[in-house]
Amino acid sequence: MSNLISPKAYNQQTAQVSRPARLLHFTIDCDWVPGSEPGLQRLLDFADRWQLKATIFFAGRFAESYPDLVHECWRRGHELGTHGWEHGGLEEDEDCRSASYGQQREWIRLATEAVEKASGVRPVVFRAPNLWIRETTLRALEDEGYRYDSSVPAWRFDCGFGRVHYLKYFRAPSAPYRLSSSHLRVQGNSSIVEMAPSAFLFPANMTMLRVLGLPVAKWMVRRISRRSKQLVFYCHPHEFVHAHRQSFPRNMSKWNMHGMRPENLLLLDAFVQHLVELGYSPALFSDARNDSLDSSYAGVL
Ligand SMILES: [Zn+2]
Repeated sequence: MSNLISPKAYNQQTAQVSRPARLLHFTIDCDWVPGSEPGLQRLLDFADRWQLKATIFFAGRFAESYPDLVHECWRRGHELGTHGWEHGGLEEDEDCRSASYGQQREWIRLATEAVEKASGVRPVVFRAPNLWIRETTLRALEDEGYRYDSSVPAWRFDCGFGRVHYLKYFRAPSAPYRLSSSHLRVQGNSSIVEMAPSAFLFPANMTMLRVLGLPVAKWMVRRISRRSKQLVFYCHPHEFVHAHRQSFPRNMSKWNMHGMRPENLLLLDAFVQHLVELGYSPALFSDARNDSLDSSYAGVL
């Protein structure tokens, strides 16, 4: 911890940048994992220390069970989104790739209502459970008044190690773009802006950081930065709580559970410090205004 720059120095550094060259979208996925809520508290304190405003995606059942915590996220200035209704709970995963339009819209509507009831704010930002999405999901999101999605697994294939084992959207843009109703991989005229979770074969997330380590994460950031000025990073509250204190879905892998601990915050500290040193500044999805999609949000390719 001693070699970290102080939050004060970090704030001075970011204040000097009028238009950041690189943007960090720090996101948190609150899957429905009872017992994971202390991990969200830890992440909120982490975000305060770095003065990061996060985009936080809630499974509807998480929001329903911990409404005070959802409200706390809003009170501390974070952006609220939804992440399925149960995400899968302790049984089968919700899969937007095979569910009907009506079923998907029901999941989205229930989650939206749970977050709105807890916070007083209607969410307009969505991430599909397991990044399992298809074109009907876009229609359901449009019909529920959403503005942003962060589910298209561009440049990602988990090679049997994560949950993304399909290549349909592999060549999707890495930088923000308006989705097309004909194919989520191409740009279109949807009212919904895609903020694809960053990846370069492996995802830019906490699991990658825990498993592959900081040097590989730094290499990935270099590769991702060649395609986009944005880094959309994600982590889960359950990664910062010991596994035996939580109730996981039956399909949660043992190796993943083994690496869950509060000390992972130290690794996250080092990663964010690296991003700050590279000139990344934190930003919310709602900062991606319409008029900026073709300028500051355009990809660097
Ligand atoms: Zn999730």
